[in-house]
Amino acid sequence: MHDVVIIGSGPAGLTAAIYTARANLSPVMYEGAQAGGQLTLTTDVENYPGFPTGIMGPQLIQDMHAQAERFGTTFHAADVTKVDLNRRPFTLTINDEETIHAKSIIISTGATANLLGLASESRLLGHGVSTCATCDGFFFRGKPIAVIGGGDSALEEATFLTKFASHVTVIHRRDKLRASKIMQDKAMKNDKLSFRWNSIVEEVLGDGVVSGLRLRDTTNNQTDNLDCKGMFVAIGHTPNTQIFKGQIDTDANGYIQTTHGTATNVPGVFAAGDVQDSHYRQAITAAGTGCMAAMDAEQFLETGD
Ligand code: NAP
Repeated sequence: MHDVVIIGSGPAGLTAAIYTARANLSPVMYEGAQAGGQLTLTTDVENYPGFPTGIMGPQLIQDMHAQAERFGTTFHAADVTKVDLNRRPFTLTINDEETIHAKSIIISTGATANLLGLASESRLLGHGVSTCATCDGFFFRGKPIAVIGGGDSALEEATFLTKFASHVTVIHRRDKLRASKIMQDKAMKNDKLSFRWNSIVEEVLGDGVVSGLRLRDTTNNQTDNLDCKGMFVAIGHTPNTQIFKGQIDTDANGYIQTTHGTATNVPGVFAAGDVQDSHYRQAITAAGTGCMAAMDAEQFLETGD
């Protein structure tokens, strides 16, 4: 029986681990399929306080992991595949096999990158279609690339990809970017980067690998083909809350609803990070709510509420 089980290993989960470990609660963390979460798929993090010259996302995660380990967190490279939150202690199923029990749970399962939903996109995923510029950018040295989306992620990925690509075209469905002003300015100044406004991808072209995109201009309904060897999709995320469905209250988009700090509708179950935050979605806010969840879990274990 564990006092605290933490599900998910991004900045929220790792911060919760540091705090619960330092409270002598011997936290046990299930890292999930994408250990370290979204920061492991990013490059420079320039806005995490304490790093005046920036830090690489994977390094930041590695450091948080080492810090959590130092205070006694136990890590498991495994998935929680089922939970029963109807009675305490809670029951968690690991990799559809083993069953464990916990007095309290911190959910920090984060969110996963969305795809456009085209058949040609899934067929060519990993063969020119990617959701991770850091992972796959290198494969497109000297080649033209397209990035889909108009938010900070799209511009960050597009800017990063100009290090490798011959040219990067950002394809956005509107004529106004959602990205922050500073990201926009940076992208606009980059002469290896251009924009296709009011355009949607109708099909990813190519047999074995991506050879281009068929685009539709939404202002005149005309289609044309863009020559590119890679398509990076950066159109937002979906919270990873499937295993809690029917047990934990979520909003219409699947984000966990929290009240009084990080409490969910089930006493003893807390949520932190992007899984409960569709608005701020920053590493620092995830870490902040991870700290809150740890303190809330500690109080719950002491007082029962
Ligand atoms: P986002 O802000 O939700 O932007 C998603 C973009 O994708 C929007 O431009 C949206 O278009 C477009 N989009 C959504 N669905 C689409 C579809 N089916 N087809 C075509 N386009 C579609 O998501 P994000 O860029 O991933 O950013 C998430 C959060 O993380 C934000 O708060 C952002 O500020 C933050 N972030 C920060 C940094 C940083 O500070 N370094 C880096 C990355 C992300 P519309 O604009 O038309 O809705």
